[in-house]
Amino acid sequence: ASSVETLEFQAETRQLLRLVIHSIYSNKDIFLRELISNASDALDKLRLESLADSTVQADTSDLHIALEVDQDARTLTVRDNGIGMSRDDLVDLIGTIAKSGTAGLLEKIKESRDAATAQSLIGQFGVGFYSAFMVADKVTLRTRRAGTDAGTRWESDGEGTYEIQAVDDLPVGTSVTLHLKPADSEDGLADYLAEWKIRQIVKQYSDFIRWPIRMAAERTDADGTTTPTVDTLNSMKALWARPRNEVTETEYNEFYQQISHDWLAPAETIHMRAEGTFEYEALLFIPSQAPFDLFSRETKRGVQLYVKRVFIMDDCEALMPNYLRFVKGVVDAHDLSLNISREILQHDRQIRAVRRRLVKKVLGAIKDMQAKDSERYARLWDQFGRVLKEGLVEDTDNSQALLELVSAASTHDAEKPTTLRAYVERMKDGQDTIYYLTGETRATVENSPHMEAFTAKGYEVLILTDPIDEIWADQIPAFDGHRLQSIAKGQVDLDEPADGDQESDPEKTKREADFATLLPWLTTTLSEQVKQVRLSSRLTTSAACIVGDAHDISPTLEKMYRATGQ
Ligand code: ADP
Ligand code: MG
Repeated sequence: ASSVETLEFQAETRQLLRLVIHSIYSNKDIFLRELISNASDALDKLRLESLADSTVQADTSDLHIALEVDQDARTLTVRDNGIGMSRDDLVDLIGTIAKSGTAGLLEKIKESRDAATAQSLIGQFGVGFYSAFMVADKVTLRTRRAGTDAGTRWESDGEGTYEIQAVDDLPVGTSVTLHLKPADSEDGLADYLAEWKIRQIVKQYSDFIRWPIRMAAERTDADGTTTPTVDTLNSMKALWARPRNEVTETEYNEFYQQISHDWLAPAETIHMRAEGTFEYEALLFIPSQAPFDLFSRETKRGVQLYVKRVFIMDDCEALMPNYLRFVKGVVDAHDLSLNISREILQHDRQIRAVRRRLVKKVLGAIKDMQAKDSERYARLWDQFGRVLKEGLVEDTDNSQALLELVSAASTHDAEKPTTLRAYVERMKDGQDTIYYLTGETRATVENSPHMEAFTAKGYEVLILTDPIDEIWADQIPAFDGHRLQSIAKGQVDLDEPADGDQESDPEKTKREADFATLLPWLTTTLSEQVKQVRLSSRLTTSAACIVGDAHDISPTLEKMYRATGQ
């Protein structure tokens, strides 16, 4: 036999392994879901590869997943005849977590106060394979990449190193053999050699897997004789293809949890079917909790594309705009080529129409929630408001619909945020502008000298404290016909009546005369720092404040740009 190499796990991988094994999952059953999902992915990949490239010599006639139990050896094996891995794949994919953001994730996990949060964090990251070490003290993986003759055996006890060895005579695909730890109910370790337990886990987590998951079983006939059979454990039913009234809420929730790795039920479920020239089904979910990496550059969109139940791709950017990246689900289009590329999808007219419709559906669902259940809506806004506001800038077609959803703090009520609609309804007689002020915190905004005159005169001001607020509030021309105006920019002089007969104001003329020499002197003295010093009616108690030009970038934005190196 060929020689055995011993390699070390990358340091971050070791750390993650320790977390997974010792503390993270209270529910150890999910290791099987993870291994089955990897096997299913491997089958998808082989199927796609053979469709896309007819020179790939692979038998795709009976793609499936097999679960094998050996009571004497105390092993459970998950086997697939999918794409397999080369030696280098193994080292790269299993020995290393090359994914960016690992360090940040580890930090978050350490900070998280309860097991459920930690679980959902780690689940989102998909450390799937390593979950095997929760239930096994040794894992042996044998694999052969389709289209190659070289097989590889990989083995590890999850303690820091792994062995790798070339082996002959492996079938194409992968088998993962778990040398199980003894059952220990206190530790949450069930008897994973028990047929009923395996059936239960598959049913719960992997029922919609589109490949058969098989297991050897015995059938007992009426006369008491038993014959060996092979059972398929999963229903393989695509939930989205079923009529809405035949799907229960539990089924929807379980499906959501399966595709999202979330442990909570979704906040909203949208199930639709489009008939006509371009048929498709969509099953979308709005999560109730934002993922940890919602704002990292690598965050993927959560919508998968299927074509007639064949999985095509994750993260389908053609179907969901970036600002709805938190929406999870499935779109199954009937009339697309299986080989369709991301580039073609982006430019496909029908796909664009589908996307427009899905966006309307999602925004409509949020609007409904706003109208019918303000508490649930407040929670949703708390989780996803910042992302939705990106849409105000990105998606001009829907910006008015999005503006209706915006929930913002305001001087009107210290406790409760307001909608723009409610602000407009409260506007003073003669007020036609929506006033806002941006800043880092509510306190800095409230204490800003810009606020004084507005507070004194009883004008309501929106308090915008997200960095993104600067951008949209500046770009959105108007809401419902009312201009949005930052009270820190340009001339906002509340004293002056709109008809502009300011010259005749004797008070003002007098004040201007009083300061006739001071103002030019200040302007010259401060010329390095400011463009102009002028008399203002914005202030009541502060002596002076700095005002931007109407089109200047604001201090907060300036800081943001500087932080991102622009
Ligand atoms: P994820 O599935 O989120 O990528 P995993 O830890 O579950 O993370 O798996 C890591 C990688 O190892 C997979 O992306 C895949 O490339 C490879 N892999 C795991 N299991 C298999 C398998 N049964 N067949 C082929 N490749 C696999
Ligand atoms: Mg996985």
